[in-house]
Amino acid sequence: MTSDKGAAGGRAGGSAAALRLVGAVDAAGVPVEVRCDNGRITSVRRGAPAGPVVERTAGGQVTTVELSGMTLLPALAEPHAHIDKAYTADRYVNATGDLDGAIAASHRCFAERTAADIAADARRALGAYLAKGCLSVRTHVAIGPVMGLRSMEGVRSAVADYAGLVDVQVVAHVAPPVHGRAGRANLALLREAIAMGATQVGGTPYRDDDPVAETAALVEAAAAAEVPLDLHTDETLDPGCLTVVELARVVQARRFPFAVTASHCVSLGVQDEADQRRVAGLLAEAGVAVVSLPQTNLYLQGRGTPRATPRGLTALGALRAAGCRVAAGGDNVQDPFNPMGRADPLEAASLLVTAGHLDTAAAFALVSEGAREVMGLEPVALVEGSPADLVAVPGAGLREVVAEGDARRVVVRRGEVVRPSRAAHPTARAREVAHV
Ligand SMILES: [Zn+2]
Repeated sequence: MTSDKGAAGGRAGGSAAALRLVGAVDAAGVPVEVRCDNGRITSVRRGAPAGPVVERTAGGQVTTVELSGMTLLPALAEPHAHIDKAYTADRYVNATGDLDGAIAASHRCFAERTAADIAADARRALGAYLAKGCLSVRTHVAIGPVMGLRSMEGVRSAVADYAGLVDVQVVAHVAPPVHGRAGRANLALLREAIAMGATQVGGTPYRDDDPVAETAALVEAAAAAEVPLDLHTDETLDPGCLTVVELARVVQARRFPFAVTASHCVSLGVQDEADQRRVAGLLAEAGVAVVSLPQTNLYLQGRGTPRATPRGLTALGALRAAGCRVAAGGDNVQDPFNPMGRADPLEAASLLVTAGHLDTAAAFALVSEGAREVMGLEPVALVEGSPADLVAVPGAGLREVVAEGDARRVVVRRGEVVRPSRAAHPTARAREVAHV
């Protein structure tokens, strides 16, 4: 496979120079100054005005970046994306606006596009995530009889171009069924996708005629491949469809040893409160994490209910109260499942405040530390010893930052500014200071 070097605009290999970030405030609006060495945060000073720009180090360099007017936060993470169909909304229109319309349009999308087409759109998506300060992305990649492995090929090419800038987890999102005789061809494709580099098994057991058999087959496929599982689960307002309970039962009975994520869980949100608490308890006990996807659920769900239209979000309150691991993602970016979408976790956080009724800090946690936890990544915080993966966003504190969603961001990965180029940014100026 060839890689289009330069498409991502340069790689971050970790900087030998120290980095000093001055002039910003933290989430609470308190002035903060951060120093990073060798990819880690080595000092955090709060409440102090910025010191002199020139520092002396032992023969090295210090790059100082002024971030006045900006809020410095841990880098964002996207636990649920579909970069294999991003930016296709105008070419493949969802005629009905609901989930069936999205699936029909996406079948045309996957039937017609080449691996090169898919790679081009996936590159654009990864570039957009990076510019927003999102350094880790878990993307589902569709495989099945319509598209074969073309989406895997396209995404793999795009991911290679962003190596060292965006860490990508690829979920092989296989079409049902994978169980029984009818599932043999799809199961074979799933195995090939894992051989091509997919690191998780995905699927949609709730859309199969036999969700119990499909769930069992997907769990077995992941166990055989020794990879985690991330399933699209109960993306429906039908309260009678609650396959996430079967998922929890199987992973416990099977003692499945890898991480398990249930994405969407829309129908859990329309159960009565006692059932929400009961199921949330089961998921916490089984170690099943839940990813809420407000944009796509708000767009697709509830179209048959014009009066008091339901919101389609999962039972965030019950899940968090039960101690479940919960994260939130953006899901679709301008495709038939959601014609909006900015590849920006702050958009999901904003919707979790307005539509999910979380406070701003809790909403932000679901797209930062919560997302990282569900993705199995090391925690990041503005504390000494943390990985220096950070994003500065214009604004005077977390609430304003989430509300404004300003796209002019400074992105730091492993202690090095990776976006934007220093000369291009209107509010941040970086100066490299040579030392004697
Ligand atoms: Zn999805």
